Amino acid sequence: MSALQEAALLLQALKQRIADYDYHYYVLDAPQVSDNTYDGVFRQLLEIEQQFPELLTADSPSQRVGGSAASAFDSVQHRQAMLSLNNAFSDEELEAFDRRVREGTDQLQVEYAVEPKFDGLAITLTYEDGRFVQGATRGDGYTGENVTHNLKTIRAIPSRLNTAHPPALLEVRGEVLMLKKDFEKLNQQQAAAGAKLFANPRNAAAGSLRQLDSKITAKRPLHFFAYGLGASEGVPDLRSHAEAMQYLAGLRFPVSQLRAVKTGAQGLAEYYRDIGAQRSQLPFDIDGVVYKVNSFALQDMLGFVSRAPRWAIAHKFPAEEAVTVVEDITVQV
Ligand code: NAD
Repeated sequence: MSALQEAALLLQALKQRIADYDYHYYVLDAPQVSDNTYDGVFRQLLEIEQQFPELLTADSPSQRVGGSAASAFDSVQHRQAMLSLNNAFSDEELEAFDRRVREGTDQLQVEYAVEPKFDGLAITLTYEDGRFVQGATRGDGYTGENVTHNLKTIRAIPSRLNTAHPPALLEVRGEVLMLKKDFEKLNQQQAAAGAKLFANPRNAAAGSLRQLDSKITAKRPLHFFAYGLGASEGVPDLRSHAEAMQYLAGLRFPVSQLRAVKTGAQGLAEYYRDIGAQRSQLPFDIDGVVYKVNSFALQDMLGFVSRAPRWAIAHKFPAEEAVTVVEDITVQV
């Protein structure tokens, strides 16, 4: 068998494995493996596609976002795609990201808006003339699930914008999550009722938001953080991500107090270590930090590549808990 044929077989096996993991994670809200194991398998797939570009197909997980939106909920077409983020796992990958950004924008140094990477579930909220009219999950990035009724039960999400002159249209992007202490309490209640336990706060949040009965969601303590804008009409002139976050804070959306603006790869690395040191003390789970080119003009210059923007990256933390079962990430064919 040639190296190419072997790689094609391995790639097929990796795709099948990732499809199985995605189904359990995105559709059943019950992951089969840890995120680190998932990331390891995904990375193996990326490496093969890099080595054998002729094997790259449009249906590869490297070209797609998240899970499918096929579910019991009505579907919602996103006005603007809700994409994923590329990952960096080391300082070298972080430096390579900063280099690509500087080269792509012809800048000597670039300013980044930096935030924790909330470990929850991405949603989009649509406001028309200041009123919350629709909320949806990310789904496959283009079509999500209509979970408006469930989102209305989350107290942290404003039903009206706090302004006398609301924009005609505002889409707010953010993450629904469950605080660690609420997750512990929920699992205790589930255990007492003989019901299924959730693997972690992320799955508890996703499972709670994707309930068909809003009364169940209303009983689940869900929280929300805004981290960006989607489509809009009639918003003030915003020139940077930091300005957009300030605008959202003014409208009374919960935004992270840990957000900051940093310059260059060194500034990013410092932020990563600083947040990493605080991680176990934070009231919610984070699985990394996110760096976004601050200037919207520079973001536009960089654009997108398949499933993620070129102007942002998620710098992931190592797994928090000690792994008790050693999972084999090498796929054999
Ligand atoms: P991602 O989670 O790595 O990054 C994109 C997401 O980050 C966004 O959709 C958004 O929801 C979130 N995010 C959190 N904070 C943010 C912020 N401040 N700014 C912008 N976005 C922010 O990518 P993904 O495509 O959602 O999921 C892939 C990841 O999910 C994998 O790397 C893995 O960790 C996990 N996963 C695990 C399994 C499993 O079986 N364990 C299966 C599928 C996916």
